[in-house]
Amino acid sequence: MKDHETLPLIPVRKGSGIWIEDMDGNRYIDAISSWWVNIFGHCHPQINAAIKSQLDQLEHVIFAGFTHEPAVNLSEKLIGITPPGLSRCFYADNGSSAVEVALKMSFHYWRNRGQHNKTRFISLENSYHGETIGALSVGNVPLYKETYAPLLLDTIFAKSPDCFDRVPGVSWEAHSRERFASMEAILKQHADEVCAVIVEPLVQCAGNMRMYHPVYLSLLRAACDKYDVHLIADEIAVGFGRSGTMFACEQANISPDFMCLSKGLTGGYMPFSVTLTTDKIYQAFYDDYENLTAFLHSHSFTGNPLGCSAALATLDIFATQPVLENNQVLSKCMHDLTADLVDHPHVAEVRQRGMILAIEMIKDKKSRTPFPWQERRGLTVYQYALTQGVLLRPIGNVVYLMPPYVITPDEIAKVVEVAKTGIARATQ
Ligand SMILES: *Cc1c(COP(=O)(O)O)cnc(C)c1O
Repeated sequence: MKDHETLPLIPVRKGSGIWIEDMDGNRYIDAISSWWVNIFGHCHPQINAAIKSQLDQLEHVIFAGFTHEPAVNLSEKLIGITPPGLSRCFYADNGSSAVEVALKMSFHYWRNRGQHNKTRFISLENSYHGETIGALSVGNVPLYKETYAPLLLDTIFAKSPDCFDRVPGVSWEAHSRERFASMEAILKQHADEVCAVIVEPLVQCAGNMRMYHPVYLSLLRAACDKYDVHLIADEIAVGFGRSGTMFACEQANISPDFMCLSKGLTGGYMPFSVTLTTDKIYQAFYDDYENLTAFLHSHSFTGNPLGCSAALATLDIFATQPVLENNQVLSKCMHDLTADLVDHPHVAEVRQRGMILAIEMIKDKKSRTPFPWQERRGLTVYQYALTQGVLLRPIGNVVYLMPPYVITPDEIAKVVEVAKTGIARATQ
């Protein structure tokens, strides 16, 4: 809050497409999709219409013992588009809750199957899965986590397959493959006490937009099967086309045992999330009441019809428009316009996966010495970009573009130009 003495909060009164407008009429390009959620722009006519029409029909209803058409339709649609094997949907109201559901359900599955010693989880270094106690426990970004460490579960962390760390000359694939040795060793040692491995497929977004090769996911799927441990794919940030495919798991051709979705699920409109799982897991809870095997987890707003209607409208846009094809053009445009940054003396790397492009600023390129975090170089980029009508919000020293899919090549050019000048100013 003290920052805001010099950086006043910006009161927003309106959103339209990629633009947000403040109370003074200043307009900003939302180049980060309002924290990665807003995939089709603000106030999209189709999503607006769907919510309005749902509102006049049914705003909310208890989701225990009752159901409704939007939830049934959405479940069927989600099962149709997610990787094969995912056939059951459990709704919650934010990403962290979706992660909590996956963790609890995995643990409870093993318990219902008589495996009481499976109580722990494996995650990756530099991962992020949300802010609630369980989700924070399986995350590994110190800034979010350290303060609360005494409250958290005892998670086992494997080396991240993050390719920023690779030795020059080593391919992404070789590096991610090599990093799998750490996961394999941990699984071998701890499998009998582990419920699940949780990962963010392909991009560790909150962990500085670090990226890795799909081969890691293929190796992980095989190892989870071998050691009898669940695989939880947290696609909350990378799902719905962000990674270039509808879901990042598709790039490794794998199906997880649980998939967590939120953010883009409703086009970024509503607090809403879903945890998908398999029939095998569902069946472990399906029993007579007296056996007390049921999954007792509910939220007041589970299955909210307005959330379902926003999600259905979002999926309808994917079904009726060539979104992923068009994104390939936009991704290439982002790539081409930033290619020259590779030679910038204070840019360590420009990396990209689909509709995420990240530029990592560095103090000394040769020795790979980062700028000290206290210098807040990213903040300089943020402030400069605002004066130019662009919302960029770097994570530490990493400036990234994660725009709504309705951005045009000309608008990308404007964002890139502002990012480049911002980086020049922040690194001088
Ligand atoms: C944002 C995010 C979450 C948490 O979602 P919230 O809705 O903010 O609780 C979890 N996992 C990943 C990968 C995320 O990017």
